[in-house]
Amino acid sequence: MSREPRLTIDWIACNGYGVCEAAAPDLIVLDDWGYPILPDGPIPPDLAPQARRAVNDCPMLALAWEGDGAPGGGRLGRLGGRR
Ligand code: SF4
Repeated sequence: MSREPRLTIDWIACNGYGVCEAAAPDLIVLDDWGYPILPDGPIPPDLAPQARRAVNDCPMLALAWEGDGAPGGGRLGRLGGRR
């Protein structure tokens, strides 16, 4: 069974420094306090590379990819695709 890819955030872990927005500027915007606002739906296929970069670059392991197409490399891949 396939699941649409989405980004999720562990708000307890997120430090609000916005590294994810720098990695995925077409997908993630920051609120007035610097915390990310994620797309309200599945990750568009053309923005999947940005989403993967944002997940892999998140220094707090707060940003996660759920569903199909999870990043295979980087930190998330080493953790088996789930945190
Ligand atoms: S990179 Fe990670 S810790 Fe930083 S703002 Fe984005 S989700 Fe939060």
